[in-house]
Amino acid sequence: MLIDTHSHLNFNAYNNDLEDVIKRSLDNDIWMINVGSQYSTCQKAIEISQKYSQGVYAAVGLHPIHLETNLVKIKEDMEEAQQFQAKGEVFDYDKYKSLAKNEKVKAIGEVGLDYYYKPKTTARKKIFKEKQREVLIQEISLARELDLPVIFHCRMAHQDLLEILKVQLSKFNLKGVIHCFTGNWQEAEKYLEMGFFLGFNGIIFKLNLDEIIKKTPLDKILIETDCPYLTPPAMGTKRNEPVYIKYVAEKIAQLKNLKLEEMAEKTTDNAKELFAIQ
Ligand SMILES: [Zn+2]
Repeated sequence: MLIDTHSHLNFNAYNNDLEDVIKRSLDNDIWMINVGSQYSTCQKAIEISQKYSQGVYAAVGLHPIHLETNLVKIKEDMEEAQQFQAKGEVFDYDKYKSLAKNEKVKAIGEVGLDYYYKPKTTARKKIFKEKQREVLIQEISLARELDLPVIFHCRMAHQDLLEILKVQLSKFNLKGVIHCFTGNWQEAEKYLEMGFFLGFNGIIFKLNLDEIIKKTPLDKILIETDCPYLTPPAMGTKRNEPVYIKYVAEKIAQLKNLKLEEMAEKTTDNAKELFAIQ
């Protein structure tokens, strides 16, 4: 058994065959957490999870890229949005709290910092980063209030995320995963020292993360697809989906010199532990 700890079957890419994709996954003993990125996709993730008694869970959070800042052009991703949203979203704590209280919600996420698209002037950059930080801290507070782990998204912002996490950890026992980890070993080491898991997906076929995977203790590794994105090269240009997680699992097992079964068992235990899935 494997758990895809970061999938987006709640996105438009699966509108025509969602049930088939989930069936394929569950038939292959692959469970999943569908991760929301804005209010509409969070609602959808919960809706999907409620149709299954076991194996399909949800995470809710406002992704930094969907945050209303008025400073950068919002990325439009038609695979993602359930309805076209011309404007970014303002984080509403109570609205997200009522979603997160659903018993199928296993984490707050994906939330974090993303400096990939950023304003040009220093003054605007400062406001932009401050806004992301402010909302992230509110979302971490929600995780604290509901005693949930956090799925972190972090792009070109590890220094700032590490600082925020250090402060939060001095206040409470924050748990979580740095999903789609693509930082360097020094950054990885700091997250690991803080007790966080690192999530790896098909990006390991594009970037060379071999040394980081070798050095990361097996009990701190989670595997994921981030589907519909990041399809493993073995599947060509096909849309990614939870069953293709086996390619990620195989490569990590190889790097760790383990049998696939051992690797699958351990990372599944890790996911069950972090997300309190039985
Ligand atoms: Zn994602």
